[in-house]
Amino acid sequence: MTRLVAGNWKMNGSLAANRDLLDGLVSVPGVEMAVCVPYPYLAQARQRPDGIVLGAQDVSEYAAGAYTGEVSAAMLLEFGCRYVIVGHSERRALFGEGDVMVGRKALAALHAGLVPIVCVGETLAERDEARVMEVIDRQLGAVREVLGAAAMSGVVLAYEPVWAIGSGRSASVAQIAEVHGAIRAWLDGHGVSAGAVRILYGGSVKPDNALELFDVPHVDGGLIGGASLAAADFMAICRAAAGGV
Ligand code: PEP
Repeated sequence: MTRLVAGNWKMNGSLAANRDLLDGLVSVPGVEMAVCVPYPYLAQARQRPDGIVLGAQDVSEYAAGAYTGEVSAAMLLEFGCRYVIVGHSERRALFGEGDVMVGRKALAALHAGLVPIVCVGETLAERDEARVMEVIDRQLGAVREVLGAAAMSGVVLAYEPVWAIGSGRSASVAQIAEVHGAIRAWLDGHGVSAGAVRILYGGSVKPDNALELFDVPHVDGGLIGGASLAAADFMAICRAAAGGV
């Protein structure tokens, strides 16, 4: 399946910096490249190089109405989004998003015709307690509960160990292989058409480790934070996803 490399700009950028960043991107054959930008910059990012797709970093679970501050999936679609990240660990930890809310956001995205990128992953304490798959089972189970198995085959998953995000310390090849294999088996075992679901890895992916991380079985792309803010780094990671060409 075609690899997806999605940049998560987080709460960074300015009109001037975004223009430079977007102008530095060129589509890489064989890889789907996406930039997930802050809401106010969606309009600006519609003017982007051919072959780069657009995404957002969050979405409301509600369709429309009296929900001050929220942004609906239909609005994201209207601004040209294809993807939306849901359940990023920063939203779970800092903004109190629970597993069920993440499922509802994924459902709202799918209803509107967007593809949710659903993030799952354990904290360092949970890894130290050997609870990695217990946590991921709970996170995935809640999404399946809300979406149903058939619809869940329409999402993209991102395995993002919380301790690897923004830390400069990516998970090891062995750790990623183990968890991605387990997620694929989980999907199979829960009636989700596993072959259709891309599983991205996210957590301190950089140009110098991208090639070996993309080589891990069941890694179907990457969710890239810090390194997506420098066009040269993001391009190098996308080229690595294409097999280093
Ligand atoms: C992220 O924010 O999803 C992420 C993976 O960040 P970083 O690449 O900076 O670790």
